[in-house]
Amino acid sequence: MTQEKHPKGPLAQGEHPAFLWWKGELVPWEKATVHVTMVGWTAISSVFEGIRGYWNAQERELYIFHPAAHLDRFNRSMKLMRMTSPYSKDQLLEALKQLVKANSFQGDVYFQPLAYFPGGVPGYVGVLERPGEVMIVSYARPSTLEQEEKSSTCCVSTWLRPMDTQMPPRAKMLPIYQNSRMVATEAQMNGYDYGIIMNTQGKVAEASHACVFLVRDGTAITPPITAGILESITRTAVMDLLRDELGIPVVEREVDRTELYVADEVFLCGTAMEVEAVASVDKYRPGAGAPGPVTRRLRRLFRDVVRGMETKYAHWRTPALGRAATRA
Ligand code: PMP
Repeated sequence: MTQEKHPKGPLAQGEHPAFLWWKGELVPWEKATVHVTMVGWTAISSVFEGIRGYWNAQERELYIFHPAAHLDRFNRSMKLMRMTSPYSKDQLLEALKQLVKANSFQGDVYFQPLAYFPGGVPGYVGVLERPGEVMIVSYARPSTLEQEEKSSTCCVSTWLRPMDTQMPPRAKMLPIYQNSRMVATEAQMNGYDYGIIMNTQGKVAEASHACVFLVRDGTAITPPITAGILESITRTAVMDLLRDELGIPVVEREVDRTELYVADEVFLCGTAMEVEAVASVDKYRPGAGAPGPVTRRLRRLFRDVVRGMETKYAHWRTPALGRAATRA
């Protein structure tokens, strides 16, 4: 049987990092096993995070981007599942740093913490305030921010984002990613890179794994957090950079589908996605071409911020190795 290589996480034998973090400590990859009966049901109530670390070659430092905001959201997702965390935010931040050291990463990293109910709690029963367990896996995952011309094609999906009263998209819980998966699969089957999802009110929500911005007449527009979107950390950072550094007004408001078709620029943002121009939506091309001028400037600035190439936003980054203090 041929081993198919996963495009994002190395699954083939010998390609995984040496350690992951589980039950409060570093565990060798091969020893992190559970009984087969655990597979499946726990996923119903599991929540997760996606966090990036950027390697700064000059400083030989790995900068974790906004770890406190990610770990706060991790806690909020657990809270929505009525799961208590056995670990403090500091312990989990320390775990991320330990993984960087133990796995000897010298390049960009993607961390994926997962919290689940251990001990055979069937995921479908009501649960009141039970402790969860946490596993954190880390992979080498290079940033694409150096590719200045990168852009993607999108379609508007026929699938809708569930609303908050059905299955809250603000929680980063595994079940909602079935919706994302349907959207992504449909988009790829029809020859697009990504799908943009409408909510049940008929307004634009987000993409399957990223938030959506439009630029119209010099203003950046993005759906509000009540539109059925994840409370994205990149979205908040991007709004700050647009306003404070690029002088672009930002408006959070409902967005119609056809605004995607007539926008000057459309771009997606998220931890995995970073900041990426949209070349077309349903084959309508943005007026300014892609990448447009705002997206280009933002992408460059975002790259410099996350990689630690400017000093102003140092508080958005946490050095994993602690070498940054020795910076000249
Ligand atoms: N929406 C969805 C559905 C996502 O999965 C992601 C990626 N986590 C985002 C938006 C962007 O969120 P963040 O910037 O916090 O990664």
